[in-house]
Amino acid sequence: MKETTTIEKGKENLSRPGLEANMNTKPEIIKDSYRGSAKLKGKRAMITGGDSGIGRAIAVHFAKEGAHVAIVYLNEDGDARKTKQMVEAEGVDCILKEGDLAQFKFCKEVVEQVAQEFGQIDILVNNAGTQYTEQNFTDISVAHLEETFKTNIVAMIYLTQQVFPHMKSGARIINTTSITAYKGHPLLVDYSSTKGAITSFTRSLSQQLAEKNILVNAVAPGPIWTPLIPATMNDIDDFGEHTPLGRCGQPSEIAPAYVFLASEDSTYMTGQVLHINGGQVVGG
Ligand code: NAD
Ligand code: MG
Repeated sequence: MKETTTIEKGKENLSRPGLEANMNTKPEIIKDSYRGSAKLKGKRAMITGGDSGIGRAIAVHFAKEGAHVAIVYLNEDGDARKTKQMVEAEGVDCILKEGDLAQFKFCKEVVEQVAQEFGQIDILVNNAGTQYTEQNFTDISVAHLEETFKTNIVAMIYLTQQVFPHMKSGARIINTTSITAYKGHPLLVDYSSTKGAITSFTRSLSQQLAEKNILVNAVAPGPIWTPLIPATMNDIDDFGEHTPLGRCGQPSEIAPAYVFLASEDSTYMTGQVLHINGGQVVGG
């Protein structure tokens, strides 16, 4: 695993949405020691924000486990193409779909296209997200407020509505929430609110879909080294260093949790959140 405490985090210079290709210190996507064991063989997965960071790591781990992967991303073509190469290197199919999930029309179209190409969708990973920091919550602009809520939670619910008709018993929905939903974050008042909503969405939807045996869970990352961080936050020199493990995590250290939630290993689990955060104890 990469020694993340030696990353010169503050030296990155990224503009949003953040290109992984432009990072000086690249995130670790998969550990050399990771061995796939056909846990997702033949499954068809759709991963939003799958071009980079945590989503890229999920895509590559799913591919290692034998799943075909459709990746939806905002506009980072180079990152998306690289992820496609990494996925296809595992001998599975990869579909790329570029567009803005905050536009309902795109959500609807993209699901129709992926469902047509894949036949059905077995795993939906709702992972795309965005954030703006603001010192004073009174300065959060209406535009940023709307963009953050639309992208992070409203689009998530709408996209899930579109995907649901293409799912069968045993299908999985896995949402990326955040530790900020549990601990709060003084600079991310609106973002953390969307993440709280994602946790509640996960719990409520799991109860409705339990009788259909469609399992809905979430992962709450702590500080993970991805393009989102240098692209959207200032003063990140000590990012992750206040956790018990004393460093930020890598995408390679969180993606296996998504494999677990997508696989036969988690059949008695729904409505829950896995906390991968460097050892911080949070309620729920
Ligand atoms: P990332 O920037 O690599 O991934 C986020 C992706 O979301 C982007 O690649 C982008 O293509 C996609 N996206 C954003 N807005 C979109 C839109 N309107 N339409 C379509 N796609 C859009 O960063 P990441 O850290 O891997 O983020 C993945 C998820 O993890 C996010 O939901 C984020 O909130 C969450 N998260 C990250 C951390 C962390 O420390 N990195 C911590 C907690 C939660
Ligand atoms: Mg990206």
